[in-house]
Amino acid sequence: MTTLLISHPAFLDHDTGPHHPERPDRLRAVMAALETEAFADLERLTAPAATREQLLRVHPETYIDAILGIRPPADELMAIDGDTIMGAGSAEAALRAAGAVVAGVDAVLQGHVASAFAAVRPPGHHATPDIPGGFCLFNNVAIGARHAQARYGIERVAILDFDVHHGQGTQAVVEPDRSLFYGSTHQSPLYPGTGSARERGIDGNVVNVPLGPDAGSAEFRAAWSERILPQLGRFAPELLIVSAGFDGHRRDPLAQLRLDTLDFGWITDRLMAAAEACCAGRLVSALEGGYDLTALAASASLHVRRLMES
Ligand SMILES: [Zn+2]
Repeated sequence: MTTLLISHPAFLDHDTGPHHPERPDRLRAVMAALETEAFADLERLTAPAATREQLLRVHPETYIDAILGIRPPADELMAIDGDTIMGAGSAEAALRAAGAVVAGVDAVLQGHVASAFAAVRPPGHHATPDIPGGFCLFNNVAIGARHAQARYGIERVAILDFDVHHGQGTQAVVEPDRSLFYGSTHQSPLYPGTGSARERGIDGNVVNVPLGPDAGSAEFRAAWSERILPQLGRFAPELLIVSAGFDGHRRDPLAQLRLDTLDFGWITDRLMAAAEACCAGRLVSALEGGYDLTALAASASLHVRRLMES
C-alpha cells in the first residue's frame, strides 16, 4: 500500500500579502520537492471542501459563518488579527485545508492507502473552536479526528504535533475529552505562550514538552522517546493524526530551535512505528508551519519519503 498526497491549487490563492511568512511560495516549494522521480509512486488526490457537518464537529455555526463570510474583493486583504490575514481566496482554501485532512482520514480508514499527507495552507493548530489566530482559520487536524470518530466509530484518536509552536487550538479541543490525546514538543518561550508541562488534560491525555530556545536534536528526540511516545502507547489510540510543522528547523526565521532535516525523518519513523504498534499503521499527517523554503522543502519531502516506506 502506498501513501496519498492531498493538495489543491486553491491553497495558492490564500493571499496573506507581501512579506507574510505564511505565503503561497511555501506550498509551491513543498509540491515542487514532491514532483521528483522519488515520489512517482505517491497517489494523488485533489482536496475536497470540508462540509458544514464536518466543520460543525469542532467549530460553532456562528464561527463558521463568520469565517466563510470574510470574502474581501480581489486584491484586498482583511486582517483577522495581527498575524492572521484573509484575502479573496482564503475561505475556499480554509475549507479545502480541512477537507484535505478529512479525505486523508477517509482514505486511510477505508484501507485504500497506508498513510496520507495533506499539503495544505492555511495551517490549523492555533485555531480554537471559536478563535482564529496564528495564521489558522479552521483546526484541520481536530476536524479530521472528529470525522474519524463520527464516520468510522473510531473511539480514540491521538494528535501528535512536532511544529515548533504549541497547538493551543488543538489542545483546547482535546483537553476536556478523554477520547482524544494531544502530544506536543514546542519551543518555550514562543508564541502562543501556552503548552506548559503542567497542562495535562484529563488523566494525562495532554502531554506537553516545552523545549528551550537553542534546544536541538538530542532534546527533541528525548522528549518524544521518553515523554510523549510512552504516554501515547498507554492511551492506545486507533488512529494517529500528525500536525507536521517544520519550523523547528535551525534555518527557520520564526523560532530558535536547532533541528536538522534528519530530525524530521527520525520523528516520522518514530510516529510510523507507534502507528504500527497501536493502529495497524494508520497515520494521517497535515502540514502546519515551516517558513524557510529550503528547509521546508527538504524536511517535508523527507517526511513524505519516510511515510512511503511503511
Ligand atoms: Zn509553527
